[in-house]
Amino acid sequence: MSASIINLADHRRPETIADLLGDDRIARAFDFIDASAARFTAELVRICEIPAPPFKEQERGRYFAARFVELGLADVHTDSEGNVIGFYRGQSEQPLLVMSAHLDTVFPEGTDVRVRRTGSRLCAPGIADDAAGLAALIGLIQALNAAEIELRGTIAFVATVGEEGEGDLRGVRHLFSEGRVAGRVSAFVSFDGTGVEFITHQALGSRRYRVTLIGPGGHSWGDFGVVNPAHALGRVIARLADYPAPVEPRTTYNIGRIEGGESVNVIPQSASMYVDLRSTSETELSRLEDFLLAAINRAVVDENAARAASGKKLQVELTIIGNRPSGETSRDALLVRTAIEASRAMGVNPILNRASTDSNIPISLGIPAITLGAGGVSNDSHRLSEWYDPAGREIGYKRALLLALGMAGVV
Ligand SMILES: [Zn+2]
Repeated sequence: MSASIINLADHRRPETIADLLGDDRIARAFDFIDASAARFTAELVRICEIPAPPFKEQERGRYFAARFVELGLADVHTDSEGNVIGFYRGQSEQPLLVMSAHLDTVFPEGTDVRVRRTGSRLCAPGIADDAAGLAALIGLIQALNAAEIELRGTIAFVATVGEEGEGDLRGVRHLFSEGRVAGRVSAFVSFDGTGVEFITHQALGSRRYRVTLIGPGGHSWGDFGVVNPAHALGRVIARLADYPAPVEPRTTYNIGRIEGGESVNVIPQSASMYVDLRSTSETELSRLEDFLLAAINRAVVDENAARAASGKKLQVELTIIGNRPSGETSRDALLVRTAIEASRAMGVNPILNRASTDSNIPISLGIPAITLGAGGVSNDSHRLSEWYDPAGREIGYKRALLLALGMAGVV
C-alpha cells in the first residue's frame, strides 16, 4: 500500500491520545493536577456552599462568571436563561467544544449546604451532583493555563442552569436554541457527578405531566350523581396500569403523586396526578404518551356519560412539566471514541450507558454529546446525606484534559 492513496477524509486529527501522552505540556498539566488536590478540594467546597436551588442558581452563577474572568477566559457572559459561558480560545473558532456542568441542585432554598468533613469524606447536599462537575471545569481551565497549551479549536466552558427535575434542561435548551454558541457547537461534554466508569452516550427520553380533572363538587350523599374527578382519575389510572410497556426498547411509566379532595363525605372539586413516562425509544415514548392522552379522554367521556343526569361535565387541565428527548451519539463518533481512548489511557475500562442529562438536548439535535463523571467517589446523590471523597479524582481530571485536547486539537 502506498501512502499516496490514503484517503484524508478517513484520517483522524493529527493528535491521537497516544501523541498527547508523549507531549511535555500535557505532562506539565498532569503534574499540576497531581500537585493540586488541596486546591481542587477547596474549590469544590466553595462551590458547594453557595446555594443553588431549582430556578435560583443566580448566586452560584455570579461566582462562576467571576471565576471564569479570573482564570482568563474570553467573552465571559451570563445568557438570558442564566447559563454562564466563557471561552478558552485557540487558533480558530472551530472545532468548538463545549465542556459543561450544571449549577442547579435538587435541594430547596434554606437547605444547609455547609460541608462537613469526616476523615477524607466531604458531606453536603449537592457536593457530588453537581458541585464535583463544576469544580472539574475550574480544575481543567487551571490545568490548561498551567501547561500553557495552545488549542487549534476553541473550548466553551459552560455552567448550565435547570438540569434537574422541573428545570427540564432549560439551560442547555437555551444554549442550543438561542445562545451565542447555538448552531456552532461541534461536540458537547457534560460533567455530572463522580466516578470514571461510565460514558453516557445515549439519552433517556421522558415526558412528565400533571393531569387535573375538575368538577362542580358537592355533598357525597345529597349531590350523588354529579361527575366525580376522583372517580374519573381512577379510570385513567386503571387503564394506564394495564399498558403493555415493552421490555425492549425499555419503556416505563409511573404515577408518582395523586392529590385532591377535601374530606370523606365531599365530592372533590378537583383531583390531580403526576405522571412520568420514559423510553429509550422516541417512537415508544410517543406511543405511550398517546395512550395516556387517550386514556384521559376516554375516562372523562365515560364519567360524563355515567353521570349525564346531573347535566355537569368534567374539565381537564393538562400541564407538561417535563419533556426530554431520547436518542444517542453513535459509539463510532469521534467524541465517543476519543472518550474511550482517554479512559483507557488512564487505566479505566469504560462502560457505555444511557441516562437523562444535559446531553439529551444536543443528542436530539444530532450534535455529538456525552456525559461523564468528574472522578472521585460519592453516594447518596439527591439526599441530604450526599457525600464525596476525592480518591481517584486526578484520574477524572486527566481524562477530561485528554478528551478536551483530543477534541479541540493542540497547536
Ligand atoms: Zn446532575
